[in-house]
Amino acid sequence: GRGAAAGAAGDSRRQRSLGMNMEADHMVVVMDERATELQIETVVARLVELGMDVHRSTGVTRTVLGVVGQTRPDPGLIEMFEGVHEVLRISEPYKLASRTFKPDNTIITVGDVRIGGDEVIVMAGPCSAETEQQVRTTAAAVRRAGAKIFRGGAFKPRSSPYSFQGLGEEGLRMLRDASTAEGMALVSEVMDISQIPLIEKYCDIFQVGARNMQNFTLLKELGHVRKPVLLKRGIAATIEEWLLSAEYVLSGGNTDVILCERGIRTFETATRNTFDISAIPVVKKLSHLPVLADPSHGAGRRDMVAPMARAAVAAGCDGLILEVHCDPDRALSDGAQSMFPAQFDRLMAELRIIAPAIGRSICLEPVARRGWGS
Ligand code: PEP
Ligand code: MN
Repeated sequence: GRGAAAGAAGDSRRQRSLGMNMEADHMVVVMDERATELQIETVVARLVELGMDVHRSTGVTRTVLGVVGQTRPDPGLIEMFEGVHEVLRISEPYKLASRTFKPDNTIITVGDVRIGGDEVIVMAGPCSAETEQQVRTTAAAVRRAGAKIFRGGAFKPRSSPYSFQGLGEEGLRMLRDASTAEGMALVSEVMDISQIPLIEKYCDIFQVGARNMQNFTLLKELGHVRKPVLLKRGIAATIEEWLLSAEYVLSGGNTDVILCERGIRTFETATRNTFDISAIPVVKKLSHLPVLADPSHGAGRRDMVAPMARAAVAAGCDGLILEVHCDPDRALSDGAQSMFPAQFDRLMAELRIIAPAIGRSICLEPVARRGWGS
């Protein structure tokens, strides 16, 4: 008994030392109708031993225990006790990522771009940096159409080791030069902790790919960098797991996490992934963090990217990240889902109609720029 109590105290000390304002954890233990007094008392004793306050409500047929405390007993463990009917967790398992903890939207500033404010921010660029010319041409095209942030991969997490793996540092240099030339910030994927210094040198935002959403070593390390982290949802991750991954970065001290829905794997095969648009309002409700949408990976086909992008903006995302390529039919990765610059241009024009309809703004400049023949 004594040992367990000391362990519980150590746990809350650890949480405090993480700088977390650990508000109380709440759960409700519903006992069986036929639970005996001894069973009820055993559960209460164990919860008290875990450092929880237990408020017992003895009804005519059932006893219900309200449980509050600084530690987080495993509900599944309590459910295994004799006489327990059900354990309901009331508070979320993540704190720093939750709206309960921070009710106001988080706005992340990258240069003069604000992510999470009224403006819908569009990030666009090729899946991978391939050549100097490809990067330059694509950057100019997306910037002209209204993109505020340039995207492009130099380290690619390909399903097959025989697929194009990215140009590495040479790709980062191309991406940086084009971003600077066009006056855009740059986001690029970091696959491993060893790549952090290199990505940090060239990029403004670290992208954590879907396949790395639960690379906890990487997430912990990104808790210590001073640049924002764009965290994609894992291919088979629940929203709760996704927010717990964000919590890893936040609890390390980096408050600038941007979430990105990019489609999940379901039984459907008509699209590359199933783009979970409902995740947008769900996460906006649960969390104060900005939520982006990536309909390129969500749909996997360029003819379906624009409808999904329109829907994502209508659903309330704070921005989009889109794959655009100057010559997508010859792209070395994700060509099928990469838009032609003209398609991207048209999509931006449509978003300029949709965004204001839901009280959001979006880049309005390009029309004037086009008039000057740039
Ligand atoms: C990408 O952005 O090119 C990419 C690999 O994305 P995801 O991690 O979502 O598959
Ligand atoms: Mn891609």
